[in-house]
Amino acid sequence: MSTNTPLTQSKNPIRQVLGPIRGRLIIAALLASLGTMLTLVPLAGIAHIANILFANADTTKLTIGHIETEIWWTVIASVVCVFVGMALMLAGELTAHLADNRMTHYLRLAVIQRLAQVPLGWFTSRASGEVKQAMQDDIATLHSLAAHFYTAVGRASGALLVSVIYLFALDWRMAIIALLPLPGFLLFLRRAMQSSDVNMHEFVTRLERINSTTTEFVSGIPVVKAFGVNGQAHSNYQKAVDDFAQAFDRFTRPLVALMAHAHAMVTPVTVLGLALAVGTLFIAIGWMTPVEILPFVLVAPGICAPLLLLHTLLHDLGSAAGAAQRVLALLETPILEQPNHNQQQLPSGHEIRFESVSYAYSDSHRALSNINFTLKPGTVTAIVGPSGAGKSTLAKLLLRFFDPTQGCITLGGVDLRHLETSALYRHIGFVLQEVRLIHASIRDNIALGRPSASQQEIEDAARAANIHERILALPHGYSSVVGEDVQLSGGEQQRVSIARAILLDPPVLVLDEATAATDAGNEVAIQEALSRFTQGRTLLVIAHRLDTVKHADQILVLDNGTIIEQGSHQHLLAQRGLYTRLWTLGDYATITEPKVPSC
Ligand code: ADP
Repeated sequence: MSTNTPLTQSKNPIRQVLGPIRGRLIIAALLASLGTMLTLVPLAGIAHIANILFANADTTKLTIGHIETEIWWTVIASVVCVFVGMALMLAGELTAHLADNRMTHYLRLAVIQRLAQVPLGWFTSRASGEVKQAMQDDIATLHSLAAHFYTAVGRASGALLVSVIYLFALDWRMAIIALLPLPGFLLFLRRAMQSSDVNMHEFVTRLERINSTTTEFVSGIPVVKAFGVNGQAHSNYQKAVDDFAQAFDRFTRPLVALMAHAHAMVTPVTVLGLALAVGTLFIAIGWMTPVEILPFVLVAPGICAPLLLLHTLLHDLGSAAGAAQRVLALLETPILEQPNHNQQQLPSGHEIRFESVSYAYSDSHRALSNINFTLKPGTVTAIVGPSGAGKSTLAKLLLRFFDPTQGCITLGGVDLRHLETSALYRHIGFVLQEVRLIHASIRDNIALGRPSASQQEIEDAARAANIHERILALPHGYSSVVGEDVQLSGGEQQRVSIARAILLDPPVLVLDEATAATDAGNEVAIQEALSRFTQGRTLLVIAHRLDTVKHADQILVLDNGTIIEQGSHQHLLAQRGLYTRLWTLGDYATITEPKVPSC
């Protein structure tokens, strides 16, 4: 199965996911079914031997040899059937596991290939838990489905089928009686399902409420502790737990009783008791002999286990459908448009232009409207504005975390959409607030964008980012694995990310200066590294520092998604607008509501 193989189109998520291996799974189920049928032959063999012995109780010496031969053949046939049956079941399990291996391998690769193409912005708006759930938990659930479900269904249905046929072949009247608990089981099961359907909605809603209040409660603990209040979060949580307990009671009470009845119907004791009771009656009225009852006593109770197994397996299908749905959703995540071979262009120079750019996260709200500006090579552009004005969105558009909903951004005259992603990040580097280090050595983390970099180049970059000495002090130096050998502080992680950007040596840099908001030692180290690194490059910076704003070649003042003022520091101060108000307050990028100081 190549990772480019499309999944077959079907509305049922399980069918869609298992489509490519369905044929193998059916073969596995048939093998398991046939194998189980054969392993049950010894039961019929025992009944047959008993029959021979009882039927020939008053036999002569002449026929003893003949009886012995028949018993031996029955024993041999039973043993052979057991071994062949086990071999077939083994072959079934092997086929299912190989098919499963193929499917999970394909799904994991397909998900990774898809995620490699989705916009970076997709990751920032999502918890890593969501991807982990699909990549690990859901694929593990699908593994149980592919590797175990079909063979288990094969085994259960094989056992049921062969038992029913065998019993009916012996005596249809006794077979009907022995199988009577079966419709009883189905009847109670159906009523249990109906009762759970009635209360399911309330149960799920209350459970969701517990989940959300737990998050609220846990995140509120520091506040509760700090201010010593047992406030709203606590009482909400308490109420959600109480409501859930009541809903759980309403949900489970009728369900438990009905399920207990259903299971009682098909316990081996019930079936055995019924077979013995009715068998005794049949013997008394002369319909059957005791030896004819024996197969029913041996085989009928054996139907219970596969029946209960089938019920459990069908129940598990529900969670498998949810898992398949989530994996498929991940495989259908919208990807970033990539230029085809003919569209690819090479930028001439590094001038960046935003041309009538708008962006909306949702239909109801535009984060940016009609943005126009140019970043001339080698200049510093500072973006300032109140919180929520659209500064980060603007920076992320330049990094293609997402594409503009309207307008275009060009680099050296080429629309970013016509640049290969790797070419884009060779030209534009970034150091943002949210630093992501991967679970790998510090060396690999620095060389993430240029794996071919030499040790010397990596160390030079680390030196320029003021992190070299700290790395040398680690137990395994550059080989220390992040998150395993070393836990880096926020400021140190930022310096590693600066070293990563330095190694790529991009002519354009997008920088969020809030990176400097760490402890004093780190701040000095980061500022030194950044001022060295940014020299001579085109810089777009979400500015928080007086120096940056004051000395920027141009300042873009954003408010409510539009550029309302633009120019140099002196020019903007002279306009006495929003910039002047921000300047007066001394906060260039984070204030929520600019307040005009009263005179
Ligand atoms: P700033 O960086 O100036 O604080 P942002 O660019 O983060 O502003 O946000 C601009 C607007 O877009 C805000 O109204 C914010 O609520 C909204 N926004 C930001 N990120 C997202 C997102 N991932 N999904 C939906 N809306 C968002």
